[in-house]
Amino acid sequence: MAIDYQSLAVSGVQALSPYQPGKPIAELARELGLNPADIIKLASNENPLGPSPKAVQAAQKAMGELCLYPDGNGFNLKQALAKRFTVETSQLTLGNGSNDLLEVIARCFASADDEVIYSQYAFAVYPIVTQAIGARGVCVPAQHWGHDLNAMAEAITDRTKLIFVANPNNPTGTVHGAKALKAFMDKVPARVLVVLDEAYCEYMQGEDDADGLVLLPDYPNLIVCRTFSKAWGLAALRIGYSISSAAIANILNRVRQPFNVGSVSLAAATAVLGDEAYLNEARRVNSDGLAQLGAAFEAMGLSYIPSTANFIAVDVGEHAMDVYQALLAHGVIVRPVAGYGMPRHLRVSVGLAKENARFIEALSQTLVASGQGA
Ligand SMILES: *Cc1c(COP(=O)(O)O)cnc(C)c1O
Repeated sequence: MAIDYQSLAVSGVQALSPYQPGKPIAELARELGLNPADIIKLASNENPLGPSPKAVQAAQKAMGELCLYPDGNGFNLKQALAKRFTVETSQLTLGNGSNDLLEVIARCFASADDEVIYSQYAFAVYPIVTQAIGARGVCVPAQHWGHDLNAMAEAITDRTKLIFVANPNNPTGTVHGAKALKAFMDKVPARVLVVLDEAYCEYMQGEDDADGLVLLPDYPNLIVCRTFSKAWGLAALRIGYSISSAAIANILNRVRQPFNVGSVSLAAATAVLGDEAYLNEARRVNSDGLAQLGAAFEAMGLSYIPSTANFIAVDVGEHAMDVYQALLAHGVIVRPVAGYGMPRHLRVSVGLAKENARFIEALSQTLVASGQGA
């Protein structure tokens, strides 16, 4: 008799729908017979500058030792991170991308029937990791597309083990300032861990910007997660880190895979931390691009969610999926977010000025052709 392997999976996994990544350039090129060089991808919040030459050079150098296992403790990178952020190396945990850490944290601290709180419209990985471990996800309705931190604090019960907060949030780009975040931490009992996902923190430029590291000394239940995938331009290498109390890092480091980050990634990440000019250029290109896209949306009469990150969610009307498809035909890949319960929006990553311009041109042609827009 044929075995139904689906039925053998643990119950949370049976009901899981996988994370939907942005469409790769090579895939669209194959599907539409386009030249990959003619396609622009503004779909995965990658750094449009390309990688830092310092990172590339370090990665190439590390290739000479591909036959060796990496340093499982990431000594050099931890030293560099500890110096940059004035923390102890014992507070650091490295991950195969920060997604790896989100999953490790959930597995370390929550199990079946525990509750994990996150916001409506928050990053899709939170419900996925919660469900995979059989914990109960508590999705708190958003406020103006952002996290309703008061409601999230009120949702805490005796069973709550973990709260995920994305700041800025993906896919909405919404953010909470330092005061709001501190007020939230004051309401969370010390037995409940707060994962502050700061994947886009390098892009924030406001005065009241929240910085999880400032809160860490006062809140040992806080775990700050960051990544080299976005502003640091190393998405392909899969490397992120968390900063927490040493006690929590000790737990995470027991459960992560012993060699979860490769040598090439460690070398490139260590090198890029020394390339402040690259980071500054990424910030500049991003703030210019956000202004360029915002102005274009206003000119087209489209509403959008003001963003502090390197992407922007724009309301293109009820036929957003058709608009997405039409943009693909123009060789422009953006991200539909219907899966997030945002069927009218498309999420557009900020590109170089000329890429943004090409997206704007394709979008306006598409909306004119469909009779939408102004
Ligand atoms: C991109 C992103 C991450 C980081 O992913 P990596 O695994 O480090 O590439 C984490 N959280 C959010 C909210 C993100 O958008």
